[in-house]
Amino acid sequence: MTDTTEPGAAPLHTDVLVVGGGPSGAAVATWLAREGHTVTVVEKRKVARHKACGDALTPRAVSELRKLGIDPVDLGGHIVAGVRMLHGERELEVPWPKHPDLPDHGVVLRRDLLDEHLRQRATQSGATVLMGHEATSPIVERGFVRGANLSVDGKPRQVHSRFVVVADGANSSFGRGLGTTRDHNWPYGIATRSYWSSPRSSEAWIESTLGPPDANGNPIAGYGWVIPVGDGTVNAGVAVLSTYRDVRGVNALKLLDSFAQGIAHRWGIEPNALLKAPSRFRVPLGGSVGPKMGPTFLVVGDASGAANPFNGDGVDAALMSGRLAADVLHEALTTGNSTTLQRYPTMLAEAVGQYHKVGRLTARFLGRPGILRPTLKLAMRSDRAMGAILRIAANEMRTEQSGGAERAYALATAITRFAPNW
Ligand SMILES: Cc1cc2nc3c(=O)[nH]c(=O)nc-3n(C[C@H](O)[C@H](O)[C@H](O)COP(=O)(O)OP(=O)(O)OC[C@H]3O[C@@H](n4cnc5c(N)ncnc54)[C@H](O)[C@@H]3O)c2cc1C
Repeated sequence: MTDTTEPGAAPLHTDVLVVGGGPSGAAVATWLAREGHTVTVVEKRKVARHKACGDALTPRAVSELRKLGIDPVDLGGHIVAGVRMLHGERELEVPWPKHPDLPDHGVVLRRDLLDEHLRQRATQSGATVLMGHEATSPIVERGFVRGANLSVDGKPRQVHSRFVVVADGANSSFGRGLGTTRDHNWPYGIATRSYWSSPRSSEAWIESTLGPPDANGNPIAGYGWVIPVGDGTVNAGVAVLSTYRDVRGVNALKLLDSFAQGIAHRWGIEPNALLKAPSRFRVPLGGSVGPKMGPTFLVVGDASGAANPFNGDGVDAALMSGRLAADVLHEALTTGNSTTLQRYPTMLAEAVGQYHKVGRLTARFLGRPGILRPTLKLAMRSDRAMGAILRIAANEMRTEQSGGAERAYALATAITRFAPNW
């Protein structure tokens, strides 16, 4: 449904208002609209934007997109077979793990294209998507959130709704207005990226440099990536864990610069010819933002800190949390019983709660140079060890079969029972 109302006009009424038209917001809107509910998405950007991202869709993200009827390869996405891990002189090519429910490949697709197609899918399913509409504050009636005040070209407008979904990304100013906060004891990531022209833009491997060196040559708890986009460019960036002992001394933009110098010859890039100005972003990880719900609202995607604590990937988690949120909202709208929303945090915890806890614990240990260095050396010695690490980092453990990854994960899970809730 396309909205034809002039900005500043009469208030809109809808079953569900979704604040934010990124992957999490578009997913929740599509699932709900398919069930016949009235959904309105407000997105502050006027046109498709290029969100700072590595543009990599893991097999899990590809699988979530297919559930929405979107195949990113059909949209011009570039297929990637796995991850080439680098550390020091060592180099290992690790294919995406085989998993009975997930594709055996990832896809690289620029975020402006992905987000635009996701919003189109929401519209085709019957949702109303309003671009250039920024939610500035919640409408609260008798203590319940019932919509949002908007700014449209500087003019006020209102949307009244029975329920609100907070999907406004990592900064989540709307969510914070409702009382969400990040747990400051839990890790976050600091990431930055840019694009370069490269003759190797069409190759089939994502490259990940584990523990890139800091200014003194010591490995950082994090990684540098080069992601071939398949259109003549590569997306390269660095991510550092907040648990890294010397994190305060890390200048992410300088780190990106020295990383670009380091990969220049290998990838045939001109390090100073950046195609996009890089900035530094904070990525909340491992479910670190809460609460995840209120009596009439749910929080999804980066606004809930949903990104993977092992690698900072968050598109799959954004799509998944959008799907779960739609499930409980559908039930609440159908039965008229809004206490159903209380199921959402439990569903999230069942899906990824334990995984997040193991990830947060791992991040805490890898922040210590005395643990990081020998771990990297040991892991890089064997294809099988790296295969297991990629399986865990991509959350591709199997339930029916057990290999090295499943055994290591079971051990880590047992350890987390005795660890504090980091
Ligand atoms: C440098 C970097 C690299 C990354 N690389 C990867 C990667 O390769 N693969 C991966 O899976 N993940 C990656 N991530 C994480 C991924 O980008 C996020 O997890 C994902 O975008 C989360 O989706 P979302 O819908 O929750 O939030 P977002 O994508 O941030 O979408 C939120 C939307 O809400 C809109 N909005 C915000 N406030 C308002 C408001 N008040 N009113 C209306 N609209 C509003 C925004 O304009 C935006 O469109 C990376 C992150 C960073 C920072």
